[in-house]
Amino acid sequence: MSTLDSIAREIKSCTKCPLYKNRHQAVPGEGNPKAQLFFLGEGPGQSEDKLGRPFVGEAGQFLDELLSSIKIKREDIFITNVVKCRPPNNRDPLEEETRVCTGLYLFEQIKLIKPKMIVTLGRQAMKQFFPQIRSISAVHGKAYKKAGQVYLILYHPAVSLYQPSLKEILKEDFKKIPEILKQIG
Ligand code: URA
Repeated sequence: MSTLDSIAREIKSCTKCPLYKNRHQAVPGEGNPKAQLFFLGEGPGQSEDKLGRPFVGEAGQFLDELLSSIKIKREDIFITNVVKCRPPNNRDPLEEETRVCTGLYLFEQIKLIKPKMIVTLGRQAMKQFFPQIRSISAVHGKAYKKAGQVYLILYHPAVSLYQPSLKEILKEDFKKIPEILKQIG
């Protein structure tokens, strides 16, 4: 049976899609194996690729601020990305890269952690569970239940770094997390 550690080891040496060719380090994700909240970003950026840890660059700093605004610590949550290796020049991951990576790793991580809620950050993360939703602007800040799993769709914290108006929206949406968790029970 897989464990989070065995999955992380596999990710670190994965060569199942071409993204491994340009990576410095794969980024399996990290956090509490019993987390109620599972945060999902898009893919490692430059800092993450260098350090092998998720959300450690500028977007990560803002995410830390957002978490602390609702009194949640990084070590309480689990955080990872749709793809575990940095796409060249931060391009969007290709459909085939995403299909291989999520099938091998992301869905296994979710099965092991069994979070109360999956918080998707940005369009790529949303697309994994809601491929039919075209625009995040109509659904951000809303919780959805699908096949027994609750999801909250949020903007990506990196977006707010270059679109200040979205920063305020993301801050407001984040405040809903404790209330939704309480409702799930
Ligand atoms: N953006 C992401 O989507 N993931 C990271 O880990 C860092 C930045």
